Amino acid sequence: MLSLSSFTINRERMIQEQLLSRGIEDARVLDAMQHTPRHIFVEDALQEQAYGDFPLPIGCGQTISQPYIVALMTEALALEGHEKVLEIGTGSGYQAVVLSQLCARVYTVERVELLMNRARRIFDRLRCHNICSRLDDGTMGWPAEAPFDRIIVTAAGPRVPEPLLAQLADPGRLIIPVGDRYEQMLQVVELIEGELLVHDITPVRFVDLIGEHGWAG
Ligand code: SAH
Repeated sequence: MLSLSSFTINRERMIQEQLLSRGIEDARVLDAMQHTPRHIFVEDALQEQAYGDFPLPIGCGQTISQPYIVALMTEALALEGHEKVLEIGTGSGYQAVVLSQLCARVYTVERVELLMNRARRIFDRLRCHNICSRLDDGTMGWPAEAPFDRIIVTAAGPRVPEPLLAQLADPGRLIIPVGDRYEQMLQVVELIEGELLVHDITPVRFVDLIGEHGWAG
């Protein structure tokens, strides 16, 4: 078991060697990741690997994304601090906690109850009072709270779920991995004056987005 200060040193090294060196430059994103204790989002036996350059299992066949991918997706959201952000796929809760430091409010949806309960305990422990969470099929979005300035989907589907596009504010920005079950393209969809603009960021591999507007379970 590493001491607390070793986790801090590993986190600093993660920022330098995985994020800065690969071109992540949004100071607010780097600062949020510097202040988020990633090791508490994984089980005890994996804590020493929590700042490594890879995704890690979080149970129920799901994973916490590689730090670089979290940084890349967060940076692509271009958050200034006033936004309402919808996240689909709460998982460990790590991405939601990073987002909560960069926007006004995070709405996060998870379909697996065990993961949702665990993430909620962490949100309480870290006193992230601007995170609202919901156990549901996130491909349906969160209609009662729409529109959202930003939407981030952290599981991969065959296409952008229609309800999410309908719940995006104008101007607004959505990021999602889209493709087949083995490889996907991380895409940014921008809504500007009623027009949708799509651009590709990088090939990625995410776990399945399962639901009405995703893959069948
Ligand atoms: N953002 C997470 C990574 C999550 S992995 C983190 O920081 O740890 C993807 C998550 O999406 C899994 O927990 C999976 O259960 C969830 N998921 C898949 N399909 C979903 C859906 N339709 N609605 C909500 N969550 C979904």
